[in-house]
Amino acid sequence: MYIVRVALDIPLSTLFDYFLAENMTVVEGQRVVVPFGRKQVVGVVIECAERSDLDTTRIKTVLQVLDDVPPLPAELLKLIKFCSDYYHHPVGMTVMSALPTRLRDSLPLALKQALTYVLSNSGRALDLEQLPKRKQVQLRLLRALQGSSLSAAQVRAVSPTAPATLKLLMEAGWVEACAVSATPSRHTFNEEHQLTAEQQACVDAVNQSQGYQTYLLHGVTGSGKTEVYVHLLQQVLQRGGQVLLLVPEINLTPQLEYYFRSRFPDTELVSLHSGLNDSERTQNWLLAQAGRAGIILGTRLAVFTPLPQLALIIVDEEHDASFKQQDGLRYSARDVAIFRANERGVPIVLGSATPSLESYYNAQSGRYTLLKLSQRASEQAQLPTVRCINISNALLPEGVSPQILTALGERLLRGEQSLVFINRRGYAPVLMCTACGWLSDCPHCAGKMVLHLQDRRLRCHHCGHQTKVPHGCPGCGNADLQPVGIGTQRIETVLQAHFPEARVLRVDRDSTRNKGAWNAMRKQIQDEAVDILVGTQMLAKGHDFHNLTLVCVLNPDNALYSSDFRASEKLFAQLAQVAGRAGRGDKPGEVLVQTCFPDHPLFRALRAHDYDSWATTLLTEREQAGFPPFVFQVLLRAEGKEESEVYDFMRLARSSAAALAMQVEIYGVVPAALARRANHLRVQLLIQSDTRKNLQQFLRAWRPLLDELPAKKLRWSLDVDPLEF
Ligand code: ADP
Ligand code: ZN
Ligand code: ZN
Repeated sequence: MYIVRVALDIPLSTLFDYFLAENMTVVEGQRVVVPFGRKQVVGVVIECAERSDLDTTRIKTVLQVLDDVPPLPAELLKLIKFCSDYYHHPVGMTVMSALPTRLRDSLPLALKQALTYVLSNSGRALDLEQLPKRKQVQLRLLRALQGSSLSAAQVRAVSPTAPATLKLLMEAGWVEACAVSATPSRHTFNEEHQLTAEQQACVDAVNQSQGYQTYLLHGVTGSGKTEVYVHLLQQVLQRGGQVLLLVPEINLTPQLEYYFRSRFPDTELVSLHSGLNDSERTQNWLLAQAGRAGIILGTRLAVFTPLPQLALIIVDEEHDASFKQQDGLRYSARDVAIFRANERGVPIVLGSATPSLESYYNAQSGRYTLLKLSQRASEQAQLPTVRCINISNALLPEGVSPQILTALGERLLRGEQSLVFINRRGYAPVLMCTACGWLSDCPHCAGKMVLHLQDRRLRCHHCGHQTKVPHGCPGCGNADLQPVGIGTQRIETVLQAHFPEARVLRVDRDSTRNKGAWNAMRKQIQDEAVDILVGTQMLAKGHDFHNLTLVCVLNPDNALYSSDFRASEKLFAQLAQVAGRAGRGDKPGEVLVQTCFPDHPLFRALRAHDYDSWATTLLTEREQAGFPPFVFQVLLRAEGKEESEVYDFMRLARSSAAALAMQVEIYGVVPAALARRANHLRVQLLIQSDTRKNLQQFLRAWRPLLDELPAKKLRWSLDVDPLEF
């Protein structure tokens, strides 16, 4: 009898042994259904063995071997194993979290076979001129089919209603479906731009690489990084390779998808992100696994896609914290991607206008190769002028300085767009009683409830708790409650009152909650049906609005003196990104920043567009203070309702760490930045080391001790290379 070792979605750091019945065959990476307790669950076979160390009477037998999809390739299993080891997350849970949800299900997958659509004989005989002109989608679809066969994704790209139209055409007998042929489709490349010399140098450098190398593509906003990606893709695709392109946010995928599809119309492009439903996601994952998709565009989870022809990885906006998963398997998709590229022996390009200090440091020390784009790509487009408005002596009850109002007014007269950036949604961050000083605290968290005036509610952005805005102060009954501070809704109201004729659009998580809302807004902006945009970081990233010439930043100062040592790094990145939205067309851009500290080195660097000097300053500070990238950290977090239980757990955890007497520095047990959330106390313990190796050695010894500690009613987790504290 054979034994298989199976990864299951169980919080234990072991694999589980099962017998394989005589009539079953299985290979590593295949999914199986096994009994576990009283349930039947799906797992992945990680090893096949002759015998087990367990008592054979306790070993159960595999119920079913699933062969609806090909087994996970060895390369992927190795990658997952690395993640489990490095992030100290149970191996079974790591394997299962890397799979699309549909494949974690014990129901065998009834897969639609991937099909392509071609014109039938009668379809080819059609004279399109004779067909009714008003059926536009039908015409476009037929025209596209005359050009080549289409995949389901390519059909969808014609129009959202094209799949329905396709069905009608098939019923009419004009179109036939056939199984996908394994031969790679034709490759076409629409070369749109002549590369600038700088762009060409970057493309050449990466193309010349032999095997693995990490490139840091540091290019100012508007320098045409996307165009560099396109040309790199071109090299890989024409050789039949696959490219994995990771982006931080699902919001950025539609525009990139469109950009790449228009440049490589015959290449299968699949996207992988949480906006897809389970079956779309599985389908796309399988297209990637089959090697049929040339371009795989996705958010962090896409790093675990099986890619037999993988030849290049690109991580766009590599500095973005969204690449780090904040729960479960707390991995950094960027770092995992680098590991993967190394294992596969392929180049990886990390792109950013404001690289993370970790990557910048690695480029300085020669571990990564630095590629620079110092100019905007289009000749007319210049980097915007950045000016600070000193508001340290100004009273701004409405939050907007007169200089900014004047500048907005000028843009309105000239018919140009402006963007007002403020990193707070809602009307005001807190409501206050002018008589007794009562503040709108959340009853369940250590934070304040935000005033949302549109529906007259107070909302906690941490736990979701909400109440009606009270008529009087809950403390003293005073009727005069005042909003304190500014949020997007308040600025929208203020600007609309000041410029009644202007078309003001607010873009934040509240206004874009409905599906499709953000796409519609983006179109509105592109069509220049908006004069003033008020928004949060959603507007800061990646967008290319040609008529936008003014960016105003209202309250950046909080982050300057934050307790989070990464706060100023993040602020610079955010401001440089948002500033980069201005002046991307042929009109010059201007950026106005309201601050009480115009002489702060951060603003000096921002005005000079001098990322390098700013990064150098920060790196010096980090080295002196002993912070990353000069040390390596792990954070143990615990949260629970019982204060004594949480602290007892952490104290024991700390003493067991100290007792190991290894080469790490152990800090004290402290409350998290948000000390209480949804009635759970949150506590943390930081441990760091000079080398990754020492930290990992320590974690291997410490993790089993943690598993032994009493933790009935609390949750705890380890966060390796934490970004949030
Ligand atoms: P980034 O991602 O670096 O901010 P983009 O890739 O969005 O910059 O490019 C900025 C703009 O410059 C886009 O409108 C793009 O079409 C244009 N562009 C890129 N490369 C070139 C080029 N070689 N010549 C002319 N325009 C270019
Ligand atoms: Zn009061
Ligand atoms: Zn709350």
